[in-house]
Amino acid sequence: MERVDCIVIGAGVVGLAVARALARTGREVLILEAEAAIGTGTSSRNSEVIHAGIYYPQGSLKARLCVAGRDALYDFCDSHGVPYRRCGKLIVATDESQLAGLQALQEHGAANGVEDLQRLDADELKALEPQLNAVAGLLSPSTGIVDSHALMLALQGDAERAGALLALRAPVEAVEVLDSGLRVDIGGDEPMTLIASAVINCAGHSAPVIAARTRGLPADAVPTRYFAKGSYFRLTTATPFRHLVYPLPEPGGLGVHLTLDLGGQARFGPDVQWVESLDHDLDARRADGFYAAIRRYWPRLPDGALQPAYTGIRPKISGPGEPAADFRIDGPAQHGIAGLVHLFGIESPGLTAALAIADEVCQHLG
Ligand SMILES: Cc1cc2nc3c(=O)[nH]c(=O)nc-3n(C[C@H](O)[C@H](O)[C@H](O)COP(=O)(O)OP(=O)(O)OC[C@H]3O[C@@H](n4cnc5c(N)ncnc54)[C@H](O)[C@@H]3O)c2cc1C
Repeated sequence: MERVDCIVIGAGVVGLAVARALARTGREVLILEAEAAIGTGTSSRNSEVIHAGIYYPQGSLKARLCVAGRDALYDFCDSHGVPYRRCGKLIVATDESQLAGLQALQEHGAANGVEDLQRLDADELKALEPQLNAVAGLLSPSTGIVDSHALMLALQGDAERAGALLALRAPVEAVEVLDSGLRVDIGGDEPMTLIASAVINCAGHSAPVIAARTRGLPADAVPTRYFAKGSYFRLTTATPFRHLVYPLPEPGGLGVHLTLDLGGQARFGPDVQWVESLDHDLDARRADGFYAAIRRYWPRLPDGALQPAYTGIRPKISGPGEPAADFRIDGPAQHGIAGLVHLFGIESPGLTAALAIADEVCQHLG
């Protein structure tokens, strides 16, 4: 059987960042992607926001890797010509009962290393965004937006320049822990088997499935997967907003927020709908809930101005009603198998954190 040094499973933003980081340390890297193109999974179904790192539990991987990843991402975009805009975001309290929550969020952000949050009163908010209805808010100047596809192409380019190879239509079917390394069975049109010294499972929603098909990995090392769908509606009129606008966070997500793309088009989402399968259909009837949620902070949203756009499904490893799980990066220290790293639950802020996640994976591999 042919040998290869490192196999990265999945060519989403995380797999591409991991492949790049490993290739740049001089390792031989093969990226195996099930689909016919890179980035067709969650990496192309999100808000494209570069998060500052405000929300996540202190000391969590999400908090640490978001702040580190954000800084690395801005630098990467600058050095690689990836389109982005540091447009800033407003988190708003729409009535007095939310003021304590806003204060707590500011303190929480500062504890996570997000030191630049500015508290604004109603007049200051009106001066920035005249159509906003809010009694107070936080301005996060280090939040931005990025062209996620351009980012993935740049990561792929860097990885390939450092010697990595990408194989498309190459679905990994199983992994087996052998004395001589990690055996990887690949299906698709040209099935084959390879032996690798390192396997990094960056398969997003399928990561727990691949872990379950890893012979030699204890069953209790495989988390249960859950799906939380988020729908987006596009604004059909011109947007009066220059900043991203977020309500206070809600269980399971950050609340129906306004994001902008680099072309200036506004979209709203994602809401939270726990689902049983990876079905990306958008139920247009959810618009009613969107109008109600958006009008709390933008009462002048015109009737009929929302059009269904797309959905994304959060790759959760905690279910409804459970505390939100952290990113889970299981390497040899966790499961005892040399060279094997599984990435589970890489939901938001995984796009922001991708470069920092990649560094973390390199550390797991020593
Ligand atoms: C609604 C929503 C909004 C979000 N908004 C933001 C945001 O604004 N900012 C932010 O930072 N993050 C955001 N995120 C999170 C971010 O999108 C994800 O963390 C990130 O895209 C995960 O990337 P990934 O590479 O791990 O997964 P994916 O992009 O899903 O990539 C996994 C890849 O593995 C491949 N694969 C699967 N099985 C196999 C197999 N057996 N063999 C080979 N390949 C396989 C898939 O085809 C896919 O290409 C959001 C997520 C959602 C769902």
